[in-house]
Amino acid sequence: MNDQTQRPRMTTTAGAPVASNQNSETAGPRGPLLMQDYQLLEKLAHQNRERIPERVVHAKGWGAFGTFTVTNDITRYSCASIFGEVGKTTDMLARFSTVAGEQGAADHERDVRGFALKFYTDEGNWDVVGNNTPVFFVRDPLKFPDFIHTQKRHPRTNLRSATAMWDFWGQQPESLHQVTILMSDRGLPQDPTFMNGYGSHTYSFWNKAGERFWVKFHFKTQQGHRHFTNGEAAEIIGHSREGYQEALFGKIEDGNFPRWKMFVQVMPEADAETTPFDPFDLTKVWSHKDYPLIEVGEFALNRNADNYFAQIEQAAFSPSNKVPGIGYSPDKMLQARVFSYADAHRYRLGTHYEHLPVNAPKCPVHHYHKDGQMNFMGQKTGSVDAYYEPNSFGGAVEDNSFAEPPLRISGEAGRHPHQQQMDDYTQPRALHDEVLNDEERGRLYKNLAAAMDGADEAVVQVALGHFDLISPAYGAGIRAARAEKAQKND
Ligand code: NDP
Repeated sequence: MNDQTQRPRMTTTAGAPVASNQNSETAGPRGPLLMQDYQLLEKLAHQNRERIPERVVHAKGWGAFGTFTVTNDITRYSCASIFGEVGKTTDMLARFSTVAGEQGAADHERDVRGFALKFYTDEGNWDVVGNNTPVFFVRDPLKFPDFIHTQKRHPRTNLRSATAMWDFWGQQPESLHQVTILMSDRGLPQDPTFMNGYGSHTYSFWNKAGERFWVKFHFKTQQGHRHFTNGEAAEIIGHSREGYQEALFGKIEDGNFPRWKMFVQVMPEADAETTPFDPFDLTKVWSHKDYPLIEVGEFALNRNADNYFAQIEQAAFSPSNKVPGIGYSPDKMLQARVFSYADAHRYRLGTHYEHLPVNAPKCPVHHYHKDGQMNFMGQKTGSVDAYYEPNSFGGAVEDNSFAEPPLRISGEAGRHPHQQQMDDYTQPRALHDEVLNDEERGRLYKNLAAAMDGADEAVVQVALGHFDLISPAYGAGIRAARAEKAQKND
């Protein structure tokens, strides 16, 4: 490759050959520069524009391409083409992330991990924009911006604030289920291959007969669960802030492809009227005993991006990307994300973000959206007069055979205080009392005590009152861990 005559000729962005990329155009060898050196001006101007706004949440991420394969027939629940037959494969993309840290944050921080999947199906892109936890901190999207503000920097100190976090969590006991998972071992996976993913929201399936089912998605790691303690993570961060990128990229380069099995929990539509809990509440799981996991398929991540910025940073995942056979549910958080994710991409990437190669569907795309910044697709309707619909000149038309069965809803419009009817303690109690063993509980208490460090004591006491309500042993365990920590610090 050092034989320069064999290499392609360098050009300007307008395609003209470049005679020199080593010397600016100047009046004599000492300068000054000539204003007409557009090649220099353009190079500097491009550099100024190399960054786009980072995601407000999930800014730091790691991703790769892969293949999804159906291993079990679920066509009785969903007519989605991706599940059409056992053995069918679909190309996909995954992006994992932390939530709160900015783009330069260290990978091994205790935080919820994003678990976003894009399946390039033959009936359009289907995105599952989940987390490594099955629940979330709030159940009403009106609270989401406030919640995120508590996770980000304080306006005056520009530091993250333990007081803000515990103040919010203490006033929203619905958060404590997710806080328990975050502070458990699973809150700090060794790398993205050692964690599960969950669609978290309740979605819906519908089959060819038009029957609707409520559904939860689970993606179980085939590498097993592996975690670090806070101390181990601190040591790693001392060596490298990029441990997740190194691990995920390295494993795939080595041909050691990470795999996850996809399962669903399925609830017949009418059951939602009678379950003792709200199946659309994002702070709750569905018990495995009542709704057992049904295997669907498996995916392997087998190809690294060639260009991180183009293919991972510009990857745009949104719950609004659904395909026939998969639908939404009344879950308020899901309904809000249908708007806010796509809107974030329009802001970050531009109006036509879906046409960037990494986001573009692999099936034909026909729509009548017009113009806007960076419209590089033109309108491919076959007739210049067919630029609106309905029209008499050609172009794509609707197909009623894909109509979704009606989403049944009931109730009076209003600002319903969801919380008053909810039991926020039973499920975290099951996790604390029944799922975790003594050693796991011990580490949970320690992690919670560490997270309370530096928070206003009155605020911490309110939160501890809620941990007592989850389980007296839970509150007592955190208090003991705090006392032990205080003693060590003396
Ligand atoms: P199960 O005993 O059937 O399920 C317990 C589940 O807990 C396991 O299957 C595992 O989920 C998960 N788990 C194990 N360790 C941890 C941990 N450190 N942090 C978070 N999750 C962990 O009982 P139920 O279905 O009745 O659920 C009991 C409680 O378990 C729930 O209240 C919830 O807190 C928690 N849980 C339940 C999940 C569900 O979908 N039902 C999923 C995750 C947690 P997995 O199999 O996904 O690895």
